[in-house]
Amino acid sequence: MTSEYPCAGCGARVEYAPGTTALRCPYCGFEQQLATPDRTVREHAIDELATLPRKPLATLAAHTLVCQKCGAQTQSDAIADRCQFCAAPLVADVTSGEQIAPEAVLPFAVDRGAVREALGKWARSRWFAPGSLKKVTDAESTRGTYLPHWTFDAKTVSDYDGQRGEHYYETETYTENGETRTREVQRTRWYPASGTVSRDFDDVLVTGTGKVTTRHLEKLEPWPLAQAVPYQPDYLAGYTALRYDVEPESGLETAKARMAKVIENDCERDIGGDEQRLNWIRTRYFELMYKLVLLPVWIASYLHGGKTFTVLVNGRTGEVIGQRPYSRLKIVIAVLVGMVLAAVIIWLIVVLGHGHGPRRR
Ligand SMILES: [Zn+2]
Ligand SMILES: [Zn+2]
Repeated sequence: MTSEYPCAGCGARVEYAPGTTALRCPYCGFEQQLATPDRTVREHAIDELATLPRKPLATLAAHTLVCQKCGAQTQSDAIADRCQFCAAPLVADVTSGEQIAPEAVLPFAVDRGAVREALGKWARSRWFAPGSLKKVTDAESTRGTYLPHWTFDAKTVSDYDGQRGEHYYETETYTENGETRTREVQRTRWYPASGTVSRDFDDVLVTGTGKVTTRHLEKLEPWPLAQAVPYQPDYLAGYTALRYDVEPESGLETAKARMAKVIENDCERDIGGDEQRLNWIRTRYFELMYKLVLLPVWIASYLHGGKTFTVLVNGRTGEVIGQRPYSRLKIVIAVLVGMVLAAVIIWLIVVLGHGHGPRRR
């Protein structure tokens, strides 16, 4: 089953218009309001995962996206794409239960024009970038893509055991050039410390796809997750939406590792003193909840020197994160200019030094 998005105005295809709650035809401008959702975004208990009829990711077949316009079939891992023959929007039906259906979607707010502007600004402000970087604003290579993410909520209670270090100062005597002197030296006295800290975690975000480098994705944060709306396939019309390829169980482990860092800080603050040592932390989790949310990212890529560089734009905030090449020529010129400047400055110091400095006898 593939959704169909014909334009009631001209027969072309409508797609989701960023920043609105409407589908719009790129040809005739016809707009069609999205249905108001009859439900709200909710988190699901982790325990529910075991009861779902879902299949392991490795055994999931590719979606067959059937174009209603030209009849072409596209095999795809994506849950939304464009027909590769006629560019009609294709959105797969994900309600079969074989995979976890997205609970929420953060719709695109940054449109194609704004992306081009953001990319242009970014490209111009890169130092030592080759001229080819400006090609990144090429609209053709830029794709609006929804990336799957897991969010996790948890209430945690952590017992810990460690030591609190308190500074004190001692006067030390030492000898320098045959003279006896004294100095204050900082030392640490350690006391046993143990206790319990607790914290409520809300929407700890973990990427649900290995197709985009996590390091880059994390730089796109923070996401205005509170603005996510209940999932509706219409928001995907005209965009690519990747299927998750990280199981929620493995996402939860990543989330717990993130929580552990925060808990460690909590324990250290609880210990107090000037320095802290932790021997162990034992954390219990309550009310563990998860949801699958689709986040909007414009992905641009360009070739330079036979290498592909990827630039990501947060489809909500317009923030740009990207890889960029360096122009060797520009760097060499900058180094040469720097050397000439340094030579001129040294020459000036020498000349002025002779002119105005105290005269030697
Ligand atoms: Zn139209
Ligand atoms: Zn088609």
